[in-house]
Amino acid sequence: MGHEALWLLLPIAAWSGWLAGRRGGERRSGERFSRLSQTYFSGLNYLLNEQPDKALEVFLKIAELDSETFETQLALGNLFRRRGETDRAIRLHQDLYSRPKLSAEQRMIALLELGEDYMRAGLLDRAEALYTDLLVIDRHASAALRHLISIYQQERDWNRAIEMAERLRTASGDTTGSLIAQFHCELAEQARARGDTDEARRLAQQALAADPRCVRAHLLLGRLACAAGSHEPAIRHFEKAAEIDPDFLSEILSDLLPSYEALVRPERARAFLDLMMQRDRGVAALLARSAMVEGEQGRSEAVGFLAEHLHQRPSVRGVLKVVDLSFPDESGERAEAIVLIRELLHRLLERKPGYRCNRCGFSPRALHWQCPSCKSWGSIKPVHGVAGE
Ligand SMILES: [Zn+2]
Repeated sequence: MGHEALWLLLPIAAWSGWLAGRRGGERRSGERFSRLSQTYFSGLNYLLNEQPDKALEVFLKIAELDSETFETQLALGNLFRRRGETDRAIRLHQDLYSRPKLSAEQRMIALLELGEDYMRAGLLDRAEALYTDLLVIDRHASAALRHLISIYQQERDWNRAIEMAERLRTASGDTTGSLIAQFHCELAEQARARGDTDEARRLAQQALAADPRCVRAHLLLGRLACAAGSHEPAIRHFEKAAEIDPDFLSEILSDLLPSYEALVRPERARAFLDLMMQRDRGVAALLARSAMVEGEQGRSEAVGFLAEHLHQRPSVRGVLKVVDLSFPDESGERAEAIVLIRELLHRLLERKPGYRCNRCGFSPRALHWQCPSCKSWGSIKPVHGVAGE
């Protein structure tokens, strides 16, 4: 439990005190007001002394003392959920929802809270039923749709996720194109895995229709074309993907370069890599271009080419390539030193994460299109910099 949840309770606690006073006139209310105020200030004191656990206990007591007030109970339920006590939160919100004196709006708020409890408890079926019921109420439709999209993602029911994302775009004007494209890509990859390449291609095209800048869909279409021996369209898709987001070059080049070779198009490869070297934040384009220099002009030209560019773009991968090119089969007294240098450079690369989420910082070793940690789509990219790609 962070401090932020406690600060959320402060206005509630103050409001409870005010309410107790307003009901006043009666001696009981006066006593209650005084008791709540004392409790409130002791809680505040714990907070100021950075004792959040004790402060939390005090604020829980305040909410329990004031069992009749809707907002206080709402805050208490929220606290239970945040502490992971979802059973208590569910019971409290169910009880709140069934109180006869609630206004229609209060009943709706209790229901939305209950949905959050179900989500947190992993009771997705119940949450789905609840939010589906809420879809008919215009004012809450967008919130319900966002929750339903989240539920169908967790259930990997991509067709229903697409349907809800399209409804959300109509209901709220939210730009859901990139999300819908990712869902189509999920379906396309499923089709590809079961060998249905026509369906995979159709679904990837649908992804592009939803979001023409979807790197994943271009990569997928490029790979499908490449597997079918259609290198011209494959190159177009791979080049487009790199143009949209050069950060993915290290992913793209391993597929793109063989297609250039298959069509015997070195001049096109050279032009593309020269262009990408200007836009690449890493060294993927530089390393591929240096391999071409090596093939065309020999090792020492390639070393010179790399050395010239590595001054502006220091890179462990680049230096490793220079060492490999400079000492291909070193023997004798320098051999030991070169082996040590190679080993050290490899270790530097091994210790660095290959990818990082630009939303939450999660660093997986493999590319995920949806971050396993924060659930964002398209936020994980290859890591660049000295020890990166
Ligand atoms: Zn993340």
